Amino acid sequence: MKKIKPVVVIGAGPAGMGAAIELVKADVPCMMIDEAPRPGGQVYRQPPTKFQTQEKYKLNSEQKRGKDLYTQWLEVKDKVNLLSSTSVVGIWNEKEVIYSSEGISGIIEAEQIIIATGAYERPVPFPGWTLPGVMTVGGVKSFIKTMFVKPGKQAVIAGTGPLLISTANRLHEIGVNVMAILEAGNPPWTSGAFSKEWQEVDFAQDIANDLEELKGNNIPLLFNHTIFEAHGKSEVTSVTYGEVDAKDWKPLNDTKRTINADLVALGFGFVSNTELSMLAGCRHDFHPGIGWYIVRNEMMETTVPGIFSVGDGALIGGAIIAEQEGRIAGIKAAQNAGAITAGDAEKYFEKHLSRLHSFKSFRISINEATAMRKGLLYLPKVETLVCRCEEVVFSDVNTAIKEGAGDLQSVKLLTRLGMGPCQGRNCASSMGMYLCETLKKTPEQIGRINSRPPVKPVTLGALAKMINAEEELSNPFDAITAGGRI
Ligand SMILES: Cc1cc2nc3c(=O)[nH]c(=O)nc-3n(C[C@H](O)[C@H](O)[C@H](O)COP(=O)(O)OP(=O)(O)OC[C@H]3O[C@@H](n4cnc5c(N)ncnc54)[C@H](O)[C@@H]3O)c2cc1C
Repeated sequence: MKKIKPVVVIGAGPAGMGAAIELVKADVPCMMIDEAPRPGGQVYRQPPTKFQTQEKYKLNSEQKRGKDLYTQWLEVKDKVNLLSSTSVVGIWNEKEVIYSSEGISGIIEAEQIIIATGAYERPVPFPGWTLPGVMTVGGVKSFIKTMFVKPGKQAVIAGTGPLLISTANRLHEIGVNVMAILEAGNPPWTSGAFSKEWQEVDFAQDIANDLEELKGNNIPLLFNHTIFEAHGKSEVTSVTYGEVDAKDWKPLNDTKRTINADLVALGFGFVSNTELSMLAGCRHDFHPGIGWYIVRNEMMETTVPGIFSVGDGALIGGAIIAEQEGRIAGIKAAQNAGAITAGDAEKYFEKHLSRLHSFKSFRISINEATAMRKGLLYLPKVETLVCRCEEVVFSDVNTAIKEGAGDLQSVKLLTRLGMGPCQGRNCASSMGMYLCETLKKTPEQIGRINSRPPVKPVTLGALAKMINAEEELSNPFDAITAGGRI
């Protein structure tokens, strides 16, 4: 009988967990890699096992929604070779997965890979955004969810999207004084219209509940407002904010106000984490309301046969969509491996495809509503840092443009923007848009910052320890923990 090679699942969030569950159900060996210490991804992030949950940090509704998935995960987890606290730092020769963990690196020669690496939060530069105390809403939530830490006393929340609402309520619940929620847009989830448009009632209901509580506690939710500046010497102490125009979110400077705050939580939407799919040679396209996304067929397979991309890493959609996509990819990979028949696969796909379909309008509206508007590009001043890693300021980018840089790669070469450890995660989306606007070019003409291995910081020593154990090993997991090629 043909030995089935493990399917490599990169990322243990809802998308990766969904894929792993379906692979185990079909008796297909699954090797899962995640840089976090515990599975759950961003939304179902688990606290360390030693932590006891206190009442005020009780499971919130989004974690409760993930309970079924987590229960199923617990049933299969012993059959999954999970490498936690391990980063995938590259994919080369299409399907060779390079990983690194605690000073050891290795290569897995995979036949099938499911990339489920999620998204990162879209940073928007403005004066003071690098001050301690200014963080993203995801960072704030992980303080609360993972560490049970109160990240500040007096908070201003700015950006766009439903995460602003839930973050504000979580902060309020643990005793943080939420001064204002600054929503740059005027999105559908705040008007009550969403329940007709989005058919998944529990998600809409969560937002409605959070909104109700915020209203009951007199926490101001200001539409078409955003943060203009964070002030402070060694940490944030106050914030200037004001109105933006409804179409482009351009700051209206004559509406400025300043309030005290020691915590600023920013959430300007998400950017899919496509570094590994870029390295694997998968095709990516640009859509004005969505940004860059990975081209896939209905079964989540990319343009590189055998490589799947699922969840927010392919196209932003949230945890429930991510799980369905992961399950579809897991079933298809099991079918490709010969573990289940095409007829069975069809049957298994059905409910996940129909759930995905019911989320279609939600996905479109959330991407369109949270798409970055060009008016926010008026926020940085000439001396504002735009690339934190390489300390490139806004005027450096303008100088590069004057010197003839016509795309992101040229700006990178002239200024070092995007050359640091984050590889452009902090600057590429905003500066890409700035170049489009300034040079009147399309995103395709402006291009992207090329993904380069290692995509995550790794020591030279760890890479040097890569052992080329070419022979086939009876238990690949042993080889992986020792480093090497399998
Ligand atoms: C910081 C952050 C916080 C968020 N908080 C919330 C929230 O509170 N509520 C909510 O409804 N939604 C939240 N979201 C959105 C939500 O997390 C996603 O919609 C959902 O989790 C998507 O699931 P996923 O499996 O696609 O990705 P994720 O849940 O992001 O999982 C991706 C996994 O891949 C791993 N990974 C990434 N790159 C590598 C690599 N190179 N090597 C190894 N592992 C890797 C990550 O460690 C992560 O565990 C948040 C998103 C982010 C980015």
